[in-house]
Amino acid sequence: SSAMAAATPILDDLRLRCATPLPLLRHVADAMAADMRAGLAVDGAGELKMIPSYVYSLPTGDETGLFYALDLGGTNFRVLRVQLGGKDRRVIDSESEQVSIPKEIMHGTTEELFNFIAARLSNFVAKEGGNFRLQKGRKREIGFTFSFPVKQTSIDSGILIKWTKGFAVSGTAGRDVVACLNAAMERQGLDMLVSALVNDTVGTLAGAHYWDEDVMVAVILGTGTNACYIEKNDFIPKLLHLGPVTGNTIINTEWGAFSDGLPLTEFDRDMDAESINPGEQIFEKTISGMYLGEIVRRVLAKMAQEHDLFGHSFADKLAQPFVLRTPHLCAMQQDRSNDLGEVELILRDVIGVKESSLAERRAIVDVSDCIVKRGGRLAGAGIAGILQKMESDSNGQVLGRRTAVAMDGGLYENYPQYRSYMTEAMVELFGPQDSEHVVVEHTKDGSGIGAALLAAANSKYA
Ligand code: ADP
Repeated sequence: SSAMAAATPILDDLRLRCATPLPLLRHVADAMAADMRAGLAVDGAGELKMIPSYVYSLPTGDETGLFYALDLGGTNFRVLRVQLGGKDRRVIDSESEQVSIPKEIMHGTTEELFNFIAARLSNFVAKEGGNFRLQKGRKREIGFTFSFPVKQTSIDSGILIKWTKGFAVSGTAGRDVVACLNAAMERQGLDMLVSALVNDTVGTLAGAHYWDEDVMVAVILGTGTNACYIEKNDFIPKLLHLGPVTGNTIINTEWGAFSDGLPLTEFDRDMDAESINPGEQIFEKTISGMYLGEIVRRVLAKMAQEHDLFGHSFADKLAQPFVLRTPHLCAMQQDRSNDLGEVELILRDVIGVKESSLAERRAIVDVSDCIVKRGGRLAGAGIAGILQKMESDSNGQVLGRRTAVAMDGGLYENYPQYRSYMTEAMVELFGPQDSEHVVVEHTKDGSGIGAALLAAANSKYA
């Protein structure tokens, strides 16, 4: 149609602005590596926070006994227990329960939230039996996965900087969340010990490393994104005042805050300006699941408004932020039919377009592909940046041998095109030979067991 022809320049322009040719990927990977170094030297020197996890002891496989994990990071929290049997028997058994957090608790007081958590934990502990057995003379130990910004002060303490992800609990910011949990457990009459406080990426890395010692990096690509990796202590200048520099620790990069050299469009800038955290988390807004659908919606809204794409059936729905979600893009990209029937259905049901031509449906798939390709390739460049930094500090000990990246998150798990764009970028950056040494391992929900393993590796009884 003529409307379609008029909308084509928008698509061409988008392709141009979202392009991620090799030199751009190189720049992003180099900038990521440089920013990592800056953040390791001095707090606040770069965009990446490079938060030391205080995890100096990774699980080795020799751990034995019963350990618990608590995972708070979204609208659900999880409790888990695991019975460890040492080198040969590994994980003898594990059990977990998921509890959704009521809205009033998310908007209540610190005491209410932690009382709620302690009560559910107590409930779960009361059902312990079967293969689970606590060693004599010990208290039950907990690995606490807490996926909010924390200023960690030791392996088992950390101060909440601020709540995110819809939590608006009063009175917690500035306090040690482990102390808050301990106080609530005491009120509950629950005698347990928090042995490790960890971020979810750190839990994922520890969990994956337990099964595969070549795992050096963990990446989350879900609603949001983050990455952590194993760093040598003598490469962390900002920690040198603490004394011993031997050994390794896990560094939580908080890479979502990265922005150097990203190919951004007017659609990204507008989305950012209208977000709850303008100017922040730009890498996350370009590559993670929460935002890909919304960027595409903004492109389609412009095509509809300025070029009459969808004729006169242009619906108000398309004007609603976040109606089009990343799983919709994914479903449209899997449509292999001649008439793009699935695309038509999504357009009708999700954005209220009653009629669409085949050319329009094709254009919408092309827009989605363009945004998803940019996201996947930039994620690949980010991972390459981390590996590149590790490689140059280790005289070729990273790319010269098998190195594994543990990957978790619904975006990576469910979006095949995103996955292949990510891999493609890494192959372009490393070349066919070195990239064969980099293995991306999908670990599903590794962070819960990972936290329990970290509690075991950092046991108060060791
Ligand atoms: P979270 O990151 O919220 O802790 P997940 O790791 O499960 O949880 O990731 C959920 C995200 O994964 C969703 O917000 C969405 O962006 C993405 N996702 C989920 N399902 C799909 C799908 N079928 N196709 C593409 N993306 C998906």
